[in-house]
Amino acid sequence: REDHTFVETEKPNVTFDDVGGLEDVKKRIRLSFILPLKQPEVFAAYGKSAGGSLLLYGPPGCGKTFLARAVAGEIEVNFMHVELQAILSMYVGESEHNLHDIFAKARENKPCVVFFDELDALGGSRHQMRAHHDRMLVNQLLLELDGLDNQSDNVFIIGATNTPWYLDTALRRPGRFNHLVFVPPPDAPERQKILELKLAGKPVDGLNLSAIADMTKHFSGADLEQVVQDAVDSAMERTFETGEIQPITQKDLLAAVKGRKPSTLEW
Ligand code: ATP
Repeated sequence: REDHTFVETEKPNVTFDDVGGLEDVKKRIRLSFILPLKQPEVFAAYGKSAGGSLLLYGPPGCGKTFLARAVAGEIEVNFMHVELQAILSMYVGESEHNLHDIFAKARENKPCVVFFDELDALGGSRHQMRAHHDRMLVNQLLLELDGLDNQSDNVFIIGATNTPWYLDTALRRPGRFNHLVFVPPPDAPERQKILELKLAGKPVDGLNLSAIADMTKHFSGADLEQVVQDAVDSAMERTFETGEIQPITQKDLLAAVKGRKPSTLEW
């Protein structure tokens, strides 16, 4: 059958080492999600079932999507990123159909991690027509999740939301999104680590990243990535002016920090 889904399958080349900080989060994901996949017999011996899906929540830009891709990278399987907002914007019937096709595609590409972004988009509507549409899609999602056999299907589901309290409670039942993991904003050492990761391999000169980390309280990983991008742009501008590769300096980073606002404050 023709492929009607607009969701691409990729094999991510990022692993947990590319995710700065979040050591507790990685440890929890290893224990509750990755190890059961790798060694289901250990879990069975203790009478624990290995199934279920992971739900990541926390402020925007702090690495939920990045982590989900890294999980696929860690276990070396395919990855599909589903933006629920896009599916919701389809006509009634069409969106359920599409969701069904996405699960079918995941099975075809198994083993596969399927990542559902913006899960809170489901069920958040107060408008009656929309609410009905959302309800149909939630039901379809529940149907698909319950239809998955973790052992034989080898399709692993990760969901993400900024606002878990808006999530449809049916999605939180056992066997569904039952592993809830908070992905917090980075603390100062984590911010330094993220800056180091984003600057790795680039020409730099005399940087004090610990100082930058200290002055970027409430910055998300995505904010820090932007700071590095802005600093890179400044250095490149000088490079074009002088005709010689110019390193990224502390001054570039300081100017970049001034030009950006932390995005995790309002969460
Ligand atoms: P949203 O809730 O808005 O979807 P998110 O939590 O899914 O946000 P990501 O898309 O994973 O955030 O992060 C955006 C970008 O920020 C990533 O592509 C990544 O480069 C960078 N980033 C965020 N957190 C980290 C981190 N801990 N280590 C390295 N990079 C990070």
